[in-house]
Amino acid sequence: MSEAAPNTSVIADAAPRRRGLFIGGREEAAASGKTFATRDPATGALLAEVAEAGAADVDRAVAAARQAFDAGPWPALPARERGRLLRRLAEAIERHADELAEIETRDNGKPIFESRQIDLPEAAAVFDYYAGWADKIEGSVVPVAGPYHAYTRREPVGVVGAITPWNFPLLLASWKIAPALACGCTVVLKPAEQTPLSALRLAELAAEAGVPPGVLNVVPGFGPTAGAALARHPGVDKIAFTGSTAVGHEVMRLAAETNKRISLELGGKSPNLVFPDADLDAAVRGAYNAIFYGKGEVCAAGSRLLVASSIHDRFLEKLVERTRKLVPGDPMHPKTKLGALVSAEQMERVLGYIASGRSEGAAVVLGGERAAVPGLEHGNFVQATIFDRVRPEMRIAREEIFGPVLATLEFHDFEEAIARANDTCYGLAAAVWTRDLALAHRAARALKAGTVWVNTYNQYDPAAPFGGFRQSGFGRELGKQALDLYTETKCVWVNLQE
Ligand code: ADP
Repeated sequence: MSEAAPNTSVIADAAPRRRGLFIGGREEAAASGKTFATRDPATGALLAEVAEAGAADVDRAVAAARQAFDAGPWPALPARERGRLLRRLAEAIERHADELAEIETRDNGKPIFESRQIDLPEAAAVFDYYAGWADKIEGSVVPVAGPYHAYTRREPVGVVGAITPWNFPLLLASWKIAPALACGCTVVLKPAEQTPLSALRLAELAAEAGVPPGVLNVVPGFGPTAGAALARHPGVDKIAFTGSTAVGHEVMRLAAETNKRISLELGGKSPNLVFPDADLDAAVRGAYNAIFYGKGEVCAAGSRLLVASSIHDRFLEKLVERTRKLVPGDPMHPKTKLGALVSAEQMERVLGYIASGRSEGAAVVLGGERAAVPGLEHGNFVQATIFDRVRPEMRIAREEIFGPVLATLEFHDFEEAIARANDTCYGLAAAVWTRDLALAHRAARALKAGTVWVNTYNQYDPAAPFGGFRQSGFGRELGKQALDLYTETKCVWVNLQE
């Protein structure tokens, strides 16, 4: 991808636009006629007025998805043809990568370098990966007793309601849409109200790639209205949700009314453990990327740094030295590494946690304030912040902050390290830094988390399953495991007696 000059726009029409809902293959207004504004978190500028879906619109979108599933072409299409269309969509994402990256950065505030290097290539890769799975979803023959032939079929679960957050709008939508479509399901996606634009563009690209009307519908709107209507809709067979743990509980309650299948990818407070024998420079880079990549608005952010006491001072000195250079800047500038938090509300939340850390007695060793970026005085910028002397009972050690705020704790030995790491209600990810192979694997076994990274952090691949233990949710996205989320297993018995 080309490196645009600072602030150069590749979006043809930079003026605020109106965007509709995407239902049955075309853009539609909301039944109520209501719209809501989506803004650039770095400048406060209005990006678009977006149609606001209510329950009536969710009804229409579910009806379109039902039609495309029950009577329409999608599940009946030869599996290889579904795969071909998904691959065409992956190619369309690649062709429109500059445009989509800019939409993502302007809507979310993440640095354009991240959108270009990570969100866009990864989203395309997820569609490409599941394109390959479409014609490889097989049942098996079951060795039952008696004169019977029993076999299983993997059938699509039906209409999927996908509800996604604002931190990786396009990528997390792709994690759900790609496997769902590969399995033959149809989808109604409710993107986060803060960042609806990339999903709407994705739906257009899917239609252009030849995905039939009704197979992918997008209903932007608010959680308690559009989101809740989708979660409880009797025409929806499965809910795939990514978001906060509190909303995950609510979505589960709503989906339970009709016994929907459900998968939840929720919050985290992921521990990053540095043992005394670690390659310190690599671990410093890792700790830095773990919390500051994506502004720390990352479910798997390494927000709890657990450092062995014997190396604590040296380690923290190096980490602070490195992080000092990380200053927030214009997200559209190609050199910016720390962008704007997604909303003023999120910024206030993060600043509130910083205040709570201070008042509970932790030491701010770097940052700790709202940041002023010249020319972007209305932006939601927060300094990269490092707390030291954090005790396990403090709120900043227990609660998900979802911002560029690191809590540093210490440990004395392996047992204490693991106990501290697991002392959380979450279990999304964890990392270990050590040169001792046996210690690394012992830690990987002992850590209660869906992903454990050894001597690295924030690695993802479409083939690698991702999801949480405990209150970080259940179900695994990505990999072949995600196919389980979007298929039902049917067992067929045939009597072989004459
Ligand atoms: P975050 O903390 O990342 O904003 P949320 O859990 O608040 O996460 O939001 C994730 C998604 O869930 C968003 O699309 C949001 O609109 C949606 N949502 C929020 N409340 C509800 C609800 N009561 N029912 C269904 N969806 C909801």
